[in-house]
Amino acid sequence: MDFDKYSAKNAAMGRAWDLTDDKKKEVKHDHKPAEPKMGVCDRCKKETLVRPHRSRQTDIENGAASFGIVVHYYCENCYPKSRRDQNVPPPLNAKQVKNLLKGAKKGLF
Ligand SMILES: [Zn+2]
Repeated sequence: MDFDKYSAKNAAMGRAWDLTDDKKKEVKHDHKPAEPKMGVCDRCKKETLVRPHRSRQTDIENGAASFGIVVHYYCENCYPKSRRDQNVPPPLNAKQVKNLLKGAKKGLF
């Protein structure tokens, strides 16, 4: 058994992982919120302050699919909400909570 060789290899692998992590952090850091500027909103066509919104799009034109990043400009009203915001469930009202509790009780007894 050659433990020294083994641990040296592990240390090298650890360094490689550290580098990968650093790169990931850099990419995240680069993602700054876009500055609003004067333009025409792609949705309501109003001339106002707009922000660019990048979205991945798949188009099928003349039978050929094209993939790419499309940039649209939206005003504050039309700017699509982030996916994270859309996934937040609406708060339950009192009746829904009651029904949930009822259902839980039925399941238990
Ligand atoms: Zn708009």
